[in-house]
Amino acid sequence: MITCHDAVSQLWEYLDHTVDEVDRARVEEHLSRCRRCCAEMDFAHELRRVLVEGAAVEAPQDVLARLNRTLEELDG
Ligand SMILES: [Zn+2]
Repeated sequence: MITCHDAVSQLWEYLDHTVDEVDRARVEEHLSRCRRCCAEMDFAHELRRVLVEGAAVEAPQDVLARLNRTLEELDG
């Protein structure tokens, strides 16, 4: 099984449906077994929604910084 970090690192492609079927299956397998990653999934999903709506145009750096901090926590 892939690590939390690997799953999160592929989350954007997964959410954008640009990830290939093999990686998609790996991410889904991980998310189904890792509650921490499920929480991350919710966060990333919300983040993407905000970006799509253009509401985060004035503060994308803050959003990206928050995402980077979460990735660092998962890595640690
Ligand atoms: Zn995980």
